[in-house]
Amino acid sequence: MTYRADNARYDTMPYRRSGRSGLKLPVLSLGLWQNFGGTRDYPGAMEILGYAFDQGITHFDLANNYGPPAGSSEELFGQAMARDFRPYRDEMIISTKAGYNMWPGPYGEFGSRKYLLASLDQSLKRLGLDYVDIFYSHRFDPETPLEETMGALAHAVKSGKALYVGVSSYPEKETREAHRILKEMGVATTIHQPSYSVLNRWIENDKTIDACGELGIGVIAFSPLAQGVLSGKYSSGGDKAGTRGANPNGSLRASHVEPRVLEAVDKLGVIARNRGQSLVQLALAWVLRRKEVTSALIGVRTLEQLRDNLGVIDNLDLSAEEIVAIDEATKD
Ligand code: NDP
Repeated sequence: MTYRADNARYDTMPYRRSGRSGLKLPVLSLGLWQNFGGTRDYPGAMEILGYAFDQGITHFDLANNYGPPAGSSEELFGQAMARDFRPYRDEMIISTKAGYNMWPGPYGEFGSRKYLLASLDQSLKRLGLDYVDIFYSHRFDPETPLEETMGALAHAVKSGKALYVGVSSYPEKETREAHRILKEMGVATTIHQPSYSVLNRWIENDKTIDACGELGIGVIAFSPLAQGVLSGKYSSGGDKAGTRGANPNGSLRASHVEPRVLEAVDKLGVIARNRGQSLVQLALAWVLRRKEVTSALIGVRTLEQLRDNLGVIDNLDLSAEEIVAIDEATKD
């Protein structure tokens, strides 16, 4: 049966402006890095994607290399666009990126104009779209002049293949440089996509988040649940079947779940319980406490996980005392 969106889809989700742009994003966005690749069955994937949209999640985040295999997440989302989501295209913000290894040879990764623009064309084909809403430089390339990488982003906007552009994982200095160069080209840096969670505060430590606030760049925080560690399932004997941690070749490394981290997670669990919230909800509220953060970019494997995460909307406020207690629980 073809999907029909819920009429109540805009009733509960808060939307925040990305920096000083005109673009608003839901406080929770859904990423397709994992769980939506080659082996995922279409009905199972569409059940999650459709439910997300029904709850006001208008933003779906992709990259050329998401899968596995690389490209398959964009193909799956392309299928969703063709079969179910097409009537809602103008209600959606679809992003993609280029930067990591995608095809062999010197033009298949990093930040050259050659790679970025060829990759964007490939992504549009896989997605079955004329344009994406946001196109990112997925990582800073120390060997390509930033003028060239930003020139490729500006070209994507000027050719109509992307409406907005952003950078991902750029440190503070490179973020400022990217912003300056794009501004000279008449293009805004609308968004920055860094990793950020209560267990990973590099954007606070190197002041990238302050630079974004000052320059009017929105922040969308990826892996806000530290890839699932902030659900508590790796500490207190929770069900680990099918998880990233159970996959020996998965993206979760031993350092992500070392005893010191799990101890902190247990303490956070107590704070969450005292608030009447699940631990994932506390972790999402913590990321969203910063005014610079436009959206928390989650990944989910199951519908139950998505439902749990959406519950954060019911209590986004953290008191000053709770923030201090969270800092205490997570300090080294
Ligand atoms: P999260 O930190 O949200 O981790 C998602 C994982 O956490 C899920 O797959 C699941 O793990 C677990 N999880 C989620 N909700 C729950 C819950 N309620 N209860 C228990 N476990 C839960 O984010 P991701 O690391 O997936 O990243 C999110 C998105 O960010 C990506 O899809 C991508 O779009 C983007 N991203 C961008 C990067 C970049 O370089 N720009 C890099 C990485 C991600 P499990 O499957 O083990 O159960």
